[in-house]
Amino acid sequence: MSADRAALRRALERGEREGGSVEFKERLTRAVHLADGRLESLVAQLRHRVLSGDGEATYVVGVTDDGGVAGISPEAFSESMDVLSLIADEAGAHIDDVQTWGVAPDGGTAQRGAGSETETDGLVGVATLKEGAVLDVDDDHIVVGTAGHVDHGKSTLVGSLVTGDPDDGQGGTRSFLDVQPHEMERGLSADLSYGVYGFDDEGAVRMDNPHRKSDRARVVEEADRLVSFVDTVGHEPWLRTTIRGLVGQKLDYGLLVVAADDGPTKTTREHLGILLATELPTVVAVTKADAVSEERRREVEREVERLLRDADRTPLPVERYGVETAIEEINEQVVPVVSTSAVTMEGLPVLDELFEHLPKTGETEGDFSMYIDRTYNVTGVGAVASGTVRSGTVETGDELLVGPLADGAFREVEVRSIEMHYHPVEEASAGRIVGIALKGIGEADLERGMVLLPRSADPTPVREFTAEVMVLNHPTRIHDGYEPVVHLETVSETVSIHPEDGQLLPGDSGTARVRFKFRPYLIEEGQRFVFREGSSKGVGTVTDVTPAE
Ligand code: GDP
Ligand code: MG
Repeated sequence: MSADRAALRRALERGEREGGSVEFKERLTRAVHLADGRLESLVAQLRHRVLSGDGEATYVVGVTDDGGVAGISPEAFSESMDVLSLIADEAGAHIDDVQTWGVAPDGGTAQRGAGSETETDGLVGVATLKEGAVLDVDDDHIVVGTAGHVDHGKSTLVGSLVTGDPDDGQGGTRSFLDVQPHEMERGLSADLSYGVYGFDDEGAVRMDNPHRKSDRARVVEEADRLVSFVDTVGHEPWLRTTIRGLVGQKLDYGLLVVAADDGPTKTTREHLGILLATELPTVVAVTKADAVSEERRREVEREVERLLRDADRTPLPVERYGVETAIEEINEQVVPVVSTSAVTMEGLPVLDELFEHLPKTGETEGDFSMYIDRTYNVTGVGAVASGTVRSGTVETGDELLVGPLADGAFREVEVRSIEMHYHPVEEASAGRIVGIALKGIGEADLERGMVLLPRSADPTPVREFTAEVMVLNHPTRIHDGYEPVVHLETVSETVSIHPEDGQLLPGDSGTARVRFKFRPYLIEEGQRFVFREGSSKGVGTVTDVTPAE
């Protein structure tokens, strides 16, 4: 949320001119500005400003007509943005970016950040408006979770797919993606996905620079079908993140990379285990084919095939069976294996073809629900919750419930706005990664693992449940009262496990009672989870959420 004061100064200096692209507004209100007659003239004015600026206009809000800094309350600013977005919508434009500054009591401007409220009287803001209506979200969108040992080429492969450019073998491509950009500024966008590309009638729609917001927005707008990649960091210390990436989002497919030089490692096995345990249809890419001999590549492919057979899966070497067969056969059981090189681009057209045609998986029917993954406080907008829509559809203006709060209660909220890949949208359906701005709750009350549901839902928070668990590896046994962290959807919470038979040994499966240590969550039967403590790991399925007598 870094608001560079220069942007405000520039806008103020350029001033509001007849025939220019800058417009000053003190504030916009529903009562006054959306009234008949008034709305039409504001729509015409906005269209004119956007046209004058070659598709981009600047609205300075919280200033008087002559550019005097007035400052308005955060509530008034927020209402002004709501009204402005309605006007923009009518004018076939959208708000692309908003920056705000606090106005000090002496009339000067100070950059507004966390905790600056007390020093400021009001807000002044600069909204950038762009041509083009809000995104139509009827197109389909698959989310692919990447996994694999660190340095085996995940970021590079994704980078080369989304840009269409080869890698230099020296980390050239991943630098696009690995530098966590300051893209979060606005907070409204869920940047869980680190790469996105798409397809239209003529083939792939790729990015020139994955860092540029406008480039993402362009891909989202042009493509009929979108593919986003969600990273699941392969470093052992980050396994927590990996797990959250894998089970905390509604992924459609897994993409496991195995470098042809190193071959499968312990991490590879573990990641494969988790992908398969969550029943995610998975593609294995043997990367860096250019770096090894043909012989070595085949050897690694055979190792991968053996790994899959050991896990009771059927490997499907795409080289032998063809990509069409892979598209038809891929499921929880059948795992296509593709040889790739980001340097020679070998195998990438195969992945393109797969991602262009693979169907969306998982259930998307039913009422709206979303597990909150991250929360932000956006000046002038308020609390924003991001995550992946799990089921159903959410629309701007929807009345929802959010919770459970620590005491088990649910709070009534309203959807102020929805954003996807830096693009405002009117609605979003299952599988979409979105940021939802909420009215009726402060960011401090939101937490990862809470759920958004329709107002009509009658949710019962769960503190304790029964599960079928399996110990993947453990130095000793799992005894009564064992306390790992459970990762379920976006919930990451310490639990105590009480095996029915008193204990569980490595490789064992069995029934256990599981109790959240600190607070309840909303979970349901059939949900899968991973648990972890130190080097111990296991997986489980929720079988019963009714409280014990
Ligand atoms: P990640 O940790 O799995 O995301 O791996 P990176 O994408 O960061 O890749 C690690 C290193 O391997 C980088 O220096 C890449 O340039 C290199 N690399 C990735 N893919 C290939 C490839 O297909 N061929 C060659 N020769 N090098 C590659
Ligand atoms: Mg990486």
